[in-house]
Amino acid sequence: MQKQQKGNISDGSAGTLFVCPFSKYDPWRYSQHNTAGMNYRGCSSCFLKDISRVKQHLYRVHKRPDHYCEGCFEDFETQEMLDNHTRQRPACEVAEARFPEKMSRDQLYSIKRRRPARDSCETWFIILHDLVPFGNNA
Ligand SMILES: [Zn+2]
Ligand SMILES: [Zn+2]
Repeated sequence: MQKQQKGNISDGSAGTLFVCPFSKYDPWRYSQHNTAGMNYRGCSSCFLKDISRVKQHLYRVHKRPDHYCEGCFEDFETQEMLDNHTRQRPACEVAEARFPEKMSRDQLYSIKRRRPARDSCETWFIILHDLVPFGNNA
């Protein structure tokens, strides 16, 4: 039986909740099952009301530190401290990448540029694509 709704027709977007795009792409890593990456425990269970909240989440949890050394991956409070560090001689030891899974600067930049479109689901998929450029969206 079909019910006609009067006066309160929703286009469906009002009640849409978004999850973290990373948890869509790697559900195991970005969930409470990942005891090694405590930061990511909330990723699969956070429900974000709109694209700007999705972005906030990405900046908060998935952004690399603002000023980190590309060699040793130490992070610094200011760009000046980082500059001093990268110019010191002998230079620091190159270490293994500490946060390879976090958003690169290019990714961060393209996500910042995304304006919430009329269809926020579409915007969400565009953001997912920014993060997973190899079509590897499981
Ligand atoms: Zn997340
Ligand atoms: Zn360094």
